[in-house]
Amino acid sequence: GAWTAQIVTLFPEAFPGILGLSLTGRALSEGLWNLRTTDLRPFGIGKHRNVDDTPAGGGAGMVIRADVMDAALREAGGDLPVIYLSPRGKPFTQARARELANGPGMTLICGRFEGVDQRVLDAHDVEEVSIGDYVLTGGELAAQVLIDATVRLIPRVLGNQDSLAEESFSDGLLEHPQYTKPAQWEGRAIPEVLLSGNHAAIANWRSDMAERLTKERRPDLWRAYEQARMDPAKDRQ
Ligand code: SAM
Repeated sequence: GAWTAQIVTLFPEAFPGILGLSLTGRALSEGLWNLRTTDLRPFGIGKHRNVDDTPAGGGAGMVIRADVMDAALREAGGDLPVIYLSPRGKPFTQARARELANGPGMTLICGRFEGVDQRVLDAHDVEEVSIGDYVLTGGELAAQVLIDATVRLIPRVLGNQDSLAEESFSDGLLEHPQYTKPAQWEGRAIPEVLLSGNHAAIANWRSDMAERLTKERRPDLWRAYEQARMDPAKDRQ
């Protein structure tokens, strides 16, 4: 079947959300990918279907129970890789998005409160993935980030697959600046070379700009790019 995103969440109504619009939304209704949500709430304990309890060892907040999350994961089923969105996770990258797009899909666990009992993460061999060094209220927005970045890499989702080859991170660099009509706007002109029709000169300008921007803004990416250029056999991330 098509690539599948399966999400365990207390807020299934948050999906598809923005993913239901534009390219990802069209691809969803065309069946190029599937979206399934599993509501955590019905697996909760007692009359109030409690999903959380106080942290062992004390302290503020609540933790999602292992038994409740386990029941939801079993119900969701399948043998997709399971990812817990977490600020403690490995940073998400374009390379990881590409790997996930080449696979069958992913099961995403959205945390809330102080997070999820570690034992259920261990028991299900869950990978932790972060979308950046900041703390969100819940995993739902992070799940949408992973899905959006991945789904657009599935064949036929983007109308023009060429745009993938040139964009930021595809070659280890940030992309060059973009311009469109009008040629003059409020006293600002489009760089002349872009209107010259000289394809070699345009390609040169673009790669110069990409290198300059990457050097200035992302010395970490620049170092990795130079390393890979010196040793092309080594796989660039
Ligand atoms: N106590 C946790 C900590 O300090 O690592 C933070 C929990 S956070 C308030 C609640 C949930 O939001 C997390 O369980 C996770 O699912 C999600 N979340 C927060 N920040 C995230 C990030 N940077 N990347 C991915 N998920 C995040």
